[in-house]
Amino acid sequence: MEISKADWMAEGRKRFGDNTNAWKFQCPQCGRIQSYDIVRKEVENGTFKPKRNFQADDKGLPLNLSIYAECTSPNCNWSAYGLFSGPVTVIYDPDKPHDVNRKENCTMAFEFADA
Ligand SMILES: [Zn+2]
Repeated sequence: MEISKADWMAEGRKRFGDNTNAWKFQCPQCGRIQSYDIVRKEVENGTFKPKRNFQADDKGLPLNLSIYAECTSPNCNWSAYGLFSGPVTVIYDPDKPHDVNRKENCTMAFEFADA
């Protein structure tokens, strides 16, 4: 599925509001539902044990985490930009060409979770 960034952001706001930390995404591989708020709670209560390696800040919060594209499950390291990319392709500027393989003018994302 391809969607413009403007439409994708509008869909996120419709489901979860303006605070993008609350936006939930679902890993297509393991079904985990994650948001920045969920990860922060997991860091705080010591249950954040991702299979993927994330560089962390001094509070243990992962740096450079793409919550919409990298699974943070302890049992799954799926990413939206891996061999089987997507399932959502977000196109930054739909008036210009994009190249999925070269990640030009687009990025891959998980589906939004249900609100
Ligand atoms: Zn996963």
